[in-house]
Amino acid sequence: MKSFLLLACLASVAVADEPAVSGPRAMRHLEELCALGPRPSGSAAMAKQRDLLAAHFRAAGAEVAGQAFQVRDRRTGAPVHMENLLVTWHPDRRERVLLAAHYDTRPYPDLDPVDPRGRFVGANDGASGTALLMELARFMPDLAGPCGVDFVLFDAEEYVFGMGDPYCLGSNFFARQYAASQATGRAGHRYLCAVVLDMVADRDLEIWQERNSMTWPETRPIVEEIWEVAGRLGEKRFVPRPRHAVEDDHMPLRMIGRIPACDIIDFDYPQWHTTADTPEHCAAESLEAVGRVVLEWLRTRRGP
Ligand SMILES: [Zn+2]
Repeated sequence: MKSFLLLACLASVAVADEPAVSGPRAMRHLEELCALGPRPSGSAAMAKQRDLLAAHFRAAGAEVAGQAFQVRDRRTGAPVHMENLLVTWHPDRRERVLLAAHYDTRPYPDLDPVDPRGRFVGANDGASGTALLMELARFMPDLAGPCGVDFVLFDAEEYVFGMGDPYCLGSNFFARQYAASQATGRAGHRYLCAVVLDMVADRDLEIWQERNSMTWPETRPIVEEIWEVAGRLGEKRFVPRPRHAVEDDHMPLRMIGRIPACDIIDFDYPQWHTTADTPEHCAAESLEAVGRVVLEWLRTRRGP
Protein backbone atom coordinates (compact mmCIF):
# COMPACT_ATOMS: atom_id res chain seq x y z
CA MET A 1 0.00 0.00 0.00
CA LYS A 2 2.79 2.36 0.94
CA SER A 3 4.75 1.72 -2.22
CA PHE A 4 1.56 2.11 -4.26
CA LEU A 5 1.02 5.54 -2.69
CA LEU A 6 4.59 6.53 -3.41
CA LEU A 7 4.19 5.48 -7.04
CA ALA A 8 0.94 7.39 -7.30
CA CYS A 9 2.70 10.48 -5.90
CA LEU A 10 5.57 10.17 -8.34
CA ALA A 11 3.12 9.82 -11.21
CA SER A 12 1.27 12.97 -10.23
CA VAL A 13 4.55 14.88 -9.93
CA ALA A 14 5.51 13.75 -13.43
CA VAL A 15 2.18 14.93 -14.82
CA ALA A 16 2.41 18.23 -12.99
CA ASP A 17 5.92 18.78 -14.35
CA GLU A 18 4.91 18.28 -17.95
CA PRO A 19 4.80 21.67 -19.63
CA ALA A 20 1.24 22.86 -20.00
CA VAL A 21 -0.39 25.02 -22.64
CA SER A 22 -0.85 28.51 -21.24
CA GLY A 23 -4.05 30.37 -22.01
CA PRO A 24 -2.67 33.69 -20.74
CA ARG A 25 0.34 33.38 -23.07
CA ALA A 26 -1.90 32.59 -26.05
CA MET A 27 -4.12 35.52 -25.09
CA ARG A 28 -1.12 37.86 -25.04
CA HIS A 29 -0.28 36.73 -28.58
CA LEU A 30 -3.88 37.41 -29.63
CA GLU A 31 -3.68 40.93 -28.18
CA GLU A 32 -0.32 41.52 -29.84
CA LEU A 33 -1.77 40.58 -33.25
CA CYS A 34 -4.86 42.76 -32.75
CA ALA A 35 -2.63 45.67 -31.73
CA LEU A 36 -1.34 45.68 -35.33
CA GLY A 37 -4.84 46.79 -36.33
CA PRO A 38 -6.92 45.37 -39.19
CA ARG A 39 -4.83 42.86 -41.15
CA PRO A 40 -6.59 42.23 -44.46
CA SER A 41 -4.69 40.51 -47.28
CA GLY A 42 -2.27 42.80 -49.08
CA SER A 43 -2.16 45.43 -46.31
CA ALA A 44 0.92 46.84 -44.61
CA ALA A 45 -0.32 45.50 -41.27
CA MET A 46 -0.57 42.01 -42.79
CA ALA A 47 3.06 42.23 -43.98
CA LYS A 48 4.09 43.37 -40.50
CA GLN A 49 2.18 40.48 -38.95
CA ARG A 50 3.92 38.06 -41.31
CA ASP A 51 7.34 39.32 -40.19
CA LEU A 52 6.32 39.08 -36.54
CA LEU A 53 5.10 35.50 -36.98
CA ALA A 54 8.15 34.38 -38.97
CA ALA A 55 10.43 35.76 -36.23
CA HIS A 56 8.34 34.14 -33.51
CA PHE A 57 8.38 30.68 -35.06
CA ARG A 58 12.06 30.84 -36.04
CA ALA A 59 12.95 31.79 -32.46
CA ALA A 60 10.97 28.73 -31.32
CA GLY A 61 13.13 26.51 -33.53
CA ALA A 62 11.05 26.05 -36.69
CA GLU A 63 11.93 26.43 -40.34
CA VAL A 64 9.70 29.12 -41.84
CA ALA A 65 8.96 29.64 -45.53
CA GLY A 66 6.59 31.92 -47.37
CA GLN A 67 4.35 30.61 -50.14
CA ALA A 68 3.53 33.66 -52.23
CA PHE A 69 0.85 34.07 -54.87
CA GLN A 70 -1.00 36.91 -56.47
CA VAL A 71 -4.64 37.69 -57.02
CA ARG A 72 -6.35 40.64 -58.65
CA ASP A 73 -8.31 43.09 -56.57
CA ARG A 74 -11.79 42.52 -57.94
CA ARG A 75 -12.67 46.19 -57.58
CA THR A 76 -9.62 47.80 -59.21
CA GLY A 77 -7.90 44.95 -61.09
CA ALA A 78 -4.62 45.74 -59.32
CA PRO A 79 -2.42 42.79 -58.33
CA VAL A 80 -2.41 41.95 -54.61
CA HIS A 81 0.42 40.09 -52.91
CA MET A 82 -0.76 37.08 -50.91
CA GLU A 83 1.43 34.80 -48.85
CA ASN A 84 0.82 31.68 -46.83
CA LEU A 85 3.36 31.00 -44.12
CA LEU A 86 4.63 27.46 -43.69
CA VAL A 87 6.22 26.56 -40.35
CA THR A 88 8.02 23.23 -40.26
CA TRP A 89 9.03 21.19 -37.21
CA HIS A 90 11.26 18.11 -37.55
CA PRO A 91 11.63 18.44 -41.34
CA ASP A 92 13.33 15.03 -41.51
CA ARG A 93 10.06 13.23 -40.68
CA ARG A 94 8.37 12.23 -43.92
CA GLU A 95 4.88 11.62 -42.59
CA ARG A 96 3.38 14.77 -41.19
CA VAL A 97 0.39 16.33 -39.48
CA LEU A 98 -0.80 19.76 -40.59
CA LEU A 99 -2.22 22.34 -38.17
CA ALA A 100 -3.73 25.34 -39.94
CA ALA A 101 -5.25 28.72 -39.22
CA HIS A 102 -6.02 31.76 -41.33
CA TYR A 103 -4.19 34.92 -40.40
CA ASP A 104 -5.86 37.51 -42.61
CA THR A 105 -8.82 39.51 -41.33
CA ARG A 106 -11.96 40.29 -43.27
CA PRO A 107 -11.69 43.70 -44.96
CA TYR A 108 -14.93 44.98 -43.42
CA PRO A 109 -17.21 44.00 -40.53
CA ASP A 110 -20.13 43.74 -42.91
CA LEU A 111 -22.48 42.16 -40.36
CA ASP A 112 -22.10 45.11 -38.00
CA PRO A 113 -25.56 46.55 -37.41
CA VAL A 114 -24.21 50.10 -37.00
CA ASP A 115 -20.97 50.39 -38.94
CA PRO A 116 -20.55 47.70 -41.64
CA ARG A 117 -17.59 49.63 -43.11
CA GLY A 118 -15.97 50.11 -39.69
CA ARG A 119 -12.77 48.84 -38.11
CA PHE A 120 -12.39 45.07 -37.91
CA VAL A 121 -9.48 43.53 -35.98
CA GLY A 122 -10.69 39.90 -36.02
CA ALA A 123 -9.68 38.92 -32.49
CA ASN A 124 -11.54 35.63 -32.68
CA ASP A 125 -11.90 35.42 -36.47
CA GLY A 126 -8.27 35.62 -37.59
CA ALA A 127 -6.10 36.14 -34.53
CA SER A 128 -7.31 33.29 -32.31
CA GLY A 129 -6.10 30.31 -34.35
CA THR A 130 -2.84 32.09 -35.15
CA ALA A 131 -2.24 33.01 -31.50
CA LEU A 132 -2.87 29.45 -30.42
CA LEU A 133 -0.32 28.14 -32.93
CA MET A 134 2.16 30.70 -31.53
CA GLU A 135 1.65 29.16 -28.09
CA LEU A 136 1.72 25.56 -29.34
CA ALA A 137 5.09 26.28 -30.97
CA ARG A 138 6.74 25.94 -27.54
CA PHE A 139 5.90 22.24 -27.47
CA MET A 140 6.82 21.23 -31.00
CA PRO A 141 10.61 20.77 -30.71
CA ASP A 142 10.05 18.07 -28.04
CA LEU A 143 7.19 16.33 -29.81
CA ALA A 144 8.19 12.66 -29.91
CA GLY A 145 7.08 10.02 -32.37
CA PRO A 146 7.60 9.33 -36.05
CA CYS A 147 5.43 12.18 -37.36
CA GLY A 148 6.48 15.72 -38.06
CA VAL A 149 4.19 18.71 -37.72
CA ASP A 150 3.71 21.64 -40.07
CA PHE A 151 1.79 24.76 -39.15
CA VAL A 152 0.36 26.66 -42.07
CA LEU A 153 -1.02 30.16 -41.79
CA PHE A 154 -3.36 30.86 -44.66
CA ASP A 155 -3.69 34.24 -46.28
CA ALA A 156 -6.96 35.35 -47.91
CA GLU A 157 -9.39 33.07 -46.16
CA GLU A 158 -11.76 35.99 -46.37
CA TYR A 159 -10.57 38.47 -48.92
CA VAL A 160 -14.21 39.21 -49.39
CA PHE A 161 -15.73 42.55 -50.28
CA GLY A 162 -19.15 41.47 -51.39
CA MET A 163 -21.43 38.71 -52.53
CA GLY A 164 -19.80 36.25 -54.90
CA ASP A 165 -16.21 36.88 -53.82
CA PRO A 166 -14.45 33.55 -53.29
CA TYR A 167 -13.28 32.46 -49.84
CA CYS A 168 -10.25 30.37 -48.87
CA LEU A 169 -7.83 31.59 -51.58
CA GLY A 170 -4.74 30.76 -49.51
CA SER A 171 -5.82 27.25 -48.63
CA ASN A 172 -6.89 26.62 -52.23
CA PHE A 173 -3.46 27.67 -53.47
CA PHE A 174 -1.71 25.57 -50.81
CA ALA A 175 -3.87 22.52 -51.58
CA ARG A 176 -3.26 22.79 -55.33
CA GLN A 177 0.51 23.06 -54.83
CA TYR A 178 0.45 20.10 -52.49
CA ALA A 179 -1.70 17.98 -54.82
CA ALA A 180 0.65 18.75 -57.72
CA SER A 181 3.73 17.85 -55.70
CA GLN A 182 2.16 14.53 -54.69
CA ALA A 183 1.14 13.76 -58.27
CA THR A 184 4.63 14.31 -59.67
CA GLY A 185 6.31 12.47 -56.83
CA ARG A 186 8.42 15.55 -56.08
CA ALA A 187 7.18 15.83 -52.53
CA GLY A 188 9.50 14.65 -49.80
CA HIS A 189 6.62 14.47 -47.37
CA ARG A 190 3.00 13.41 -47.01
CA TYR A 191 0.27 14.83 -44.79
CA LEU A 192 -1.60 12.17 -42.85
CA CYS A 193 -4.25 14.61 -41.70
CA ALA A 194 -4.96 18.27 -41.08
CA VAL A 195 -6.72 20.22 -38.34
CA VAL A 196 -7.90 23.78 -38.93
CA LEU A 197 -8.22 26.08 -35.89
CA ASP A 198 -10.63 28.97 -36.40
CA MET A 199 -12.62 31.07 -33.93
CA VAL A 200 -11.29 29.25 -30.88
CA ALA A 201 -11.20 32.10 -28.36
CA ASP A 202 -14.87 32.95 -27.75
CA ARG A 203 -15.44 33.70 -24.04
CA ASP A 204 -18.47 31.50 -24.22
CA LEU A 205 -16.71 28.62 -25.96
CA GLU A 206 -18.65 25.64 -27.23
CA ILE A 207 -17.06 23.53 -29.95
CA TRP A 208 -19.33 21.12 -31.76
CA GLN A 209 -18.07 18.68 -34.35
CA GLU A 210 -18.10 20.24 -37.80
CA ARG A 211 -20.66 18.54 -40.01
CA ASN A 212 -18.77 18.33 -43.36
CA SER A 213 -15.78 16.57 -41.82
CA MET A 214 -18.12 14.10 -40.10
CA THR A 215 -19.49 13.01 -43.48
CA TRP A 216 -16.04 12.13 -44.88
CA PRO A 217 -15.29 8.52 -43.99
CA GLU A 218 -11.52 9.00 -43.68
CA THR A 219 -11.84 12.17 -41.61
CA ARG A 220 -14.61 11.21 -39.21
CA PRO A 221 -12.33 8.98 -37.05
CA ILE A 222 -9.96 11.92 -36.60
CA VAL A 223 -12.79 14.16 -35.42
CA GLU A 224 -13.99 11.45 -33.05
CA GLU A 225 -10.49 10.91 -31.71
CA ILE A 226 -10.02 14.62 -30.97
CA TRP A 227 -13.36 14.84 -29.15
CA GLU A 228 -12.47 11.63 -27.26
CA VAL A 229 -9.25 13.29 -26.09
CA ALA A 230 -11.31 16.27 -24.93
CA GLY A 231 -13.59 13.91 -22.99
CA ARG A 232 -10.57 12.23 -21.39
CA LEU A 233 -9.25 15.63 -20.31
CA GLY A 234 -12.66 16.53 -18.87
CA GLU A 235 -12.93 19.37 -21.39
CA LYS A 236 -16.67 20.00 -21.46
CA ARG A 237 -16.46 22.83 -24.00
CA PHE A 238 -16.00 20.22 -26.74
CA VAL A 239 -19.46 18.82 -27.50
CA PRO A 240 -19.17 15.35 -29.11
CA ARG A 241 -21.99 15.86 -31.60
CA PRO A 242 -22.15 17.55 -35.02
CA ARG A 243 -23.95 20.87 -35.45
CA HIS A 244 -22.95 23.43 -38.10
CA ALA A 245 -21.58 22.67 -41.55
CA VAL A 246 -18.85 25.25 -42.16
CA GLU A 247 -17.11 26.06 -45.45
CA ASP A 248 -13.67 26.68 -44.01
CA ASP A 249 -10.05 26.05 -44.99
CA HIS A 250 -10.42 22.33 -44.34
CA MET A 251 -12.59 22.05 -47.48
CA PRO A 252 -9.84 22.68 -50.09
CA LEU A 253 -7.34 20.68 -48.01
CA ARG A 254 -9.62 17.68 -48.27
CA MET A 255 -11.30 18.20 -51.65
CA ILE A 256 -8.20 19.34 -53.59
CA GLY A 257 -5.28 18.19 -51.42
CA ARG A 258 -7.00 14.89 -50.52
CA ILE A 259 -5.83 15.32 -46.95
CA PRO A 260 -8.28 14.11 -44.29
CA ALA A 261 -9.04 17.49 -42.73
CA CYS A 262 -11.30 18.70 -39.95
CA ASP A 263 -12.20 22.07 -38.47
CA ILE A 264 -12.14 23.03 -34.81
CA ILE A 265 -14.44 26.03 -34.78
CA ASP A 266 -16.97 27.65 -32.48
CA PHE A 267 -19.32 28.97 -35.08
CA ASP A 268 -21.72 30.48 -32.57
CA TYR A 269 -20.12 33.86 -31.86
CA PRO A 270 -22.43 36.89 -31.58
CA GLN A 271 -19.62 39.30 -32.54
CA TRP A 272 -18.90 37.44 -35.80
CA HIS A 273 -18.00 39.87 -38.65
CA THR A 274 -18.77 42.94 -36.51
CA THR A 275 -16.60 45.72 -35.06
CA ALA A 276 -17.05 43.97 -31.68
CA ASP A 277 -14.82 41.01 -32.61
CA THR A 278 -12.23 42.36 -30.17
CA PRO A 279 -10.03 40.82 -27.44
CA GLU A 280 -12.53 41.53 -24.66
CA HIS A 281 -14.91 39.02 -26.21
CA CYS A 282 -12.16 36.39 -26.12
CA ALA A 283 -10.82 34.46 -23.14
CA ALA A 284 -7.49 32.91 -22.18
CA GLU A 285 -9.38 29.90 -20.74
CA SER A 286 -10.93 29.15 -24.13
CA LEU A 287 -7.59 29.25 -25.96
CA GLU A 288 -6.10 27.07 -23.24
CA ALA A 289 -8.90 24.51 -23.52
CA VAL A 290 -8.41 24.09 -27.26
CA GLY A 291 -4.62 24.12 -26.93
CA ARG A 292 -4.66 21.38 -24.29
CA VAL A 293 -6.85 19.15 -26.44
CA VAL A 294 -4.83 19.66 -29.62
CA LEU A 295 -1.50 19.08 -27.90
CA GLU A 296 -2.71 15.97 -26.08
CA TRP A 297 -4.14 14.66 -29.35
CA LEU A 298 -0.79 15.25 -31.11
CA ARG A 299 1.03 13.42 -28.33
CA THR A 300 -1.28 10.41 -28.19
CA ARG A 301 -2.83 10.13 -31.65
CA ARG A 302 -3.41 6.63 -32.94
CA GLY A 303 -2.96 7.56 -36.57
CA PRO A 304 -3.03 7.51 -39.50
ZN1 LIG B 1 -14.78 35.29 -40.94
